[in-house]
Amino acid sequence: MIKNYVSFLFICVLWSCSHKNFSSIFANESNPYPTAELAIRIGEAQVLSIPTNGDVKPQRLICNDVPIMFHEMGTTLKAYVAVPVKTSIKSFICELTYLLDKKEVKAIVAKVKILDKEFQSEVLNVPQTTIDLSKKDLERYLKEKEIIAKAYATPNQAPLFYRPFVAPLNSVLTSTYGRKRIYNNQKENQHGGVDFRAAVDTPVPAANSGKVVLAMDLFFSGKTVLIDHGLGIFTMYAHLNKLKTRVGEYVPQNAIIGLSGMTGRVSGPHLHWGVRVNSINVDGMEFIKIK
Ligand SMILES: [Zn+2]
Repeated sequence: MIKNYVSFLFICVLWSCSHKNFSSIFANESNPYPTAELAIRIGEAQVLSIPTNGDVKPQRLICNDVPIMFHEMGTTLKAYVAVPVKTSIKSFICELTYLLDKKEVKAIVAKVKILDKEFQSEVLNVPQTTIDLSKKDLERYLKEKEIIAKAYATPNQAPLFYRPFVAPLNSVLTSTYGRKRIYNNQKENQHGGVDFRAAVDTPVPAANSGKVVLAMDLFFSGKTVLIDHGLGIFTMYAHLNKLKTRVGEYVPQNAIIGLSGMTGRVSGPHLHWGVRVNSINVDGMEFIKIK
C-alpha cells in the first residue's frame, strides 16, 4: 500500500501534477462508493442502498442513462431502481456523480442484471366508444394526458413515507400486472397495474403516506387519485365511484382517499392500483415485498 502510494507520488512528480490533477487521479484510485450487484425482473423495482462517505457530495444518479431520484440519510444513500416490462437490454449500470474537491467525479454504484418474466394474456370487452374515440373524446383524452404528465412532472425528491408500502385492498386480484390485454379483439396493451375485486363504494386506503397530486375524473381511468410518495414513487387509484381527497392534501398511510367504482373504461367494478417508480410502471404486488 505504502509502496503504491510512493510510486504514485513519484509518477505525479514526473508529470508535474497540479493539485487539480492529483485530486482527480486520487479519486479514481479510491472510489468512495462500492458497486452493488442487483438482479431485477422486468416490471419490478429494487432498493439500491449505498454507504456514503461524508467527504464527498453526491450530485446525480443515472441508471440506464435515466436520472434516478435518491435520498441521503445518515450514512446511506437510498434509491429505487426499476426495470420496464418491455426492454431489449439484458443489463445496465447506475452511475453516481459526486463532488470531490469541487470537482465532479463518477462512480459505478450498481451493475443491474435484468431477469425475464412471463405474462399471461386476456381478452376484455369494453364499450366500442372507448376504442374508437369520437373527436370530442379524443380532445378530452389529449387534454387529460397533459394534466397527468404535469402531475408526474415535479416529484418530491425526499421520501414522504416512513413505512413499507401495503396493498390498498386484500381482495382477489381479477387481473395481475403485465397481462397482455386485447380489447374487443382490436386494441392491445399491457396492464400497467393490478385490479382488485371491489364492490362499488368499497373504501380505498392509501398504500402509503404522501401528497395527492391528482384527484379528478379522467376519460380512461375514471375518477382517479394519484399520490406522490417522494423518491420518484407514485401510486394510482382508478375507476373510483367517489373521490375523498383533493390535490395538495398530505395523506397518511391507510387514509381513505376514495370509494371504488366502475368509472372510465371498465368491464365491471374493480379497483385499478398502479405503482410507478422513476417513470416506470411496476408490479405493486412485488413492490410491497420491499421492506
Ligand atoms: Zn387495471
